[in-house]
Amino acid sequence: MVRSLLDVASCAILLFALVTCDASERSVAVSKEPPNVLLISLDTTRADHCSFLGYGIDTTPNLKRLALQGASFEQAFAPSPSTGPSHATMFTSMYPIAHGLVKNTLTLGEEHVTLAEVLRDRGYQTASVVSSFVLDSKFGFSQGFQHYDDEFSPSEGVVHGQEWEGIPIPSGTFDRRGDHTTERAIRLLESRDRGRPIFLFVHFFDPHAPYAPPEPFRSRFSTAAKGQDELSVQAAYDAEIAFTDHQIGKLLAALRKSGLERNTLIVIVGDHGEGLSQHGWPTHGVQLYEEAVRVPLLISWPGRVIENSVVSNPAELLQLGPTILDLLDIEGQGPLFESRTWTDALEGKGQLDPHRAVFLQTDSPISRPTMVEGEDHSAREDFAIRWNGWKFIEGPQRTDALTWSKQVSAKELFDLGMDPAEQTNVLSKFPEQARLMADKLHQWKAAHSAEQSTPASLSEEELQGLRSLGYVE
Ligand SMILES: [Zn+2]
Repeated sequence: MVRSLLDVASCAILLFALVTCDASERSVAVSKEPPNVLLISLDTTRADHCSFLGYGIDTTPNLKRLALQGASFEQAFAPSPSTGPSHATMFTSMYPIAHGLVKNTLTLGEEHVTLAEVLRDRGYQTASVVSSFVLDSKFGFSQGFQHYDDEFSPSEGVVHGQEWEGIPIPSGTFDRRGDHTTERAIRLLESRDRGRPIFLFVHFFDPHAPYAPPEPFRSRFSTAAKGQDELSVQAAYDAEIAFTDHQIGKLLAALRKSGLERNTLIVIVGDHGEGLSQHGWPTHGVQLYEEAVRVPLLISWPGRVIENSVVSNPAELLQLGPTILDLLDIEGQGPLFESRTWTDALEGKGQLDPHRAVFLQTDSPISRPTMVEGEDHSAREDFAIRWNGWKFIEGPQRTDALTWSKQVSAKELFDLGMDPAEQTNVLSKFPEQARLMADKLHQWKAAHSAEQSTPASLSEEELQGLRSLGYVE
């Protein structure tokens, strides 16, 4: 009862604010109704395997159509090549090093404010359907959602098992296929409270291994001779993306049918990419190369986001939540309100900063002993910075994940302009550039680790670094 009264009150305030705002300041008329928000995350989807971002095989015809109505991002980066850390960053606008969920199976702390919590407290009904046990509410991802569907039934899933990473899976099913997730999401839309705006978060898991595309996608992407049931790994992966795109098409059709399309901010985003053995590693979670972290991102809101536009400068998923709240004119305090947003670029009033550094990290499960919650992971993680056309990766010396024998370099520098596929480590050729990148990376680590610890624990050198970045006075 207390909650619903608060919701009514805050909704009334929001409505008042929207009605009274000066329409002439907007490029288009703002609806008197607060906009709905549909956030869709695509698990394990590489940006360069989406046709709406230029891939030669038409994996995403529905997203291509949606892109005509919105803005596509050419350089969007997940903070981590792993589901949990990346979603936690989207929800909190904190890097994994700061929110602490640096690997799957850890829990997002209650003390962090999530996008769903902010929207719920502003009168939104908040609902979600997730498609993998990785995002189960037990790991803290349901914070702020009034309805959180993490029910994985055997008849709807692909991967079955009694436990994952030592954690029991109550239903014995790890995931849910996209068609079932879509049905559930559409039911949520249909049963929504029509008196309030809705924030709906839908997570699709299908492009994640194992690649088991259903028909007709399987046949459509098969390159084998007719009559042979053969599908290359890449074709099977592409077929899963196409299947997911088809599901999004159905969801968008339901949105149209319900009359919500005109006043809904739609965000489609990947949580991380997939190796596909480009650097030897078949899946994700281990490496920080481009294929593991560059993700699809598409934002549409008719009349507000410039149609058929392309955002070409680097964007971090850390900025996603603040951008949504900025577009909705919701103000507040905390990480979700602090990052530079994409709003100007989306509204055609400017460009993203071409010199923005992108920070990446992974708590690689390879060659690491079992970890314990609350433990200091930083000594075992790989970090990277992508900045001004260069990429610097730094991690502990370790056994190569592919051969299990040779030691791989703990540091790598790539000239992304000359070598976009990151084939040649030029660390010894450009030691000054490597040092510059390392310094910036270390300053970032000190700044964001500080969000969890007290400033008193920083050395004078670290504090100087923070001052140079403008984090402390
Ligand atoms: Zn994922």
